[in-house]
Amino acid sequence: MLKDKRYYTLMLFAPTANSQFRKYNIPHKYVYMTAVLAGVGLLTILFGAYSAIRYASLELEYQLTKKDNRALRQENDEKQKAQNKLETRIASQEPLLQKLAESTGVKTSTDIGKNIGAGGPDEKDMKGLEEATNKLEKGLRDIKEVVAANQIKLSAIPSIWPVRGYITSGIGDRSNPFGGGGSETHPGLDIAATHGTAIEPGGDGIVIKAGPQGGYGNLVVIDHGYGITTRYGHMSRIDVKVGDHVHRGMQLGAVGSTGRSTGPHLHYEVRLYDRVVDPMNYLPKDQ
Ligand SMILES: [Zn+2]
Repeated sequence: MLKDKRYYTLMLFAPTANSQFRKYNIPHKYVYMTAVLAGVGLLTILFGAYSAIRYASLELEYQLTKKDNRALRQENDEKQKAQNKLETRIASQEPLLQKLAESTGVKTSTDIGKNIGAGGPDEKDMKGLEEATNKLEKGLRDIKEVVAANQIKLSAIPSIWPVRGYITSGIGDRSNPFGGGGSETHPGLDIAATHGTAIEPGGDGIVIKAGPQGGYGNLVVIDHGYGITTRYGHMSRIDVKVGDHVHRGMQLGAVGSTGRSTGPHLHYEVRLYDRVVDPMNYLPKDQ
């Protein structure tokens, strides 16, 4: 092995009053060793810095992921809570729907709560919730239709007094009011009232006759649907015409004594499929 005996000469000059050069002889090997050590040191520092930066970025990534996870879990929990609340609310409508269905005679599904699970907000539970909501909606729709139909029927049924007054004759056999003996079957209700008293329909319907007709005198006939018609006789004045839609509270005309009548009164008749029935069956006991 060769020994390197070469030197580097380092000259130092200090610029003072007693300036002089100083000379140092440094062996080559020391210079090389210093350079190698400096290189190793630099690499170590660089690697350390790189490791530190990499660790910091990984740590940051981890923290961010952890934060995201926490946010997602919280969001999930909130959705679960909202869904549970919704499920409870929908299921709680079941008894009410059942009650409404019973009172209106509607056959409706009453197993709304069955489809509602207690799991997480996954697809299956959302499907159950949707099915339950559909059932609830359908049940309410069915009931609404029946209620609307009942409402129409109720207002069509002749169940209010067409005039207020003293009942002089009911339905059934009675002696001939014109004298001369014998009896006749009276097909309606005679309600005495002063001439000109307003007459209103017993229920909603359509006028199918408005004009004089034999013993009835001036007659109005109303078709209420459901096979029910009403007749208003002996009127002094008629205020409606055939085809008119009439409602409770409207004026059909006025009390009079036209036709076969002994004094101002309303002859009121109710027919079911054109057969005379007792109007009292439809009317409230008190006028
Ligand atoms: Zn009569």
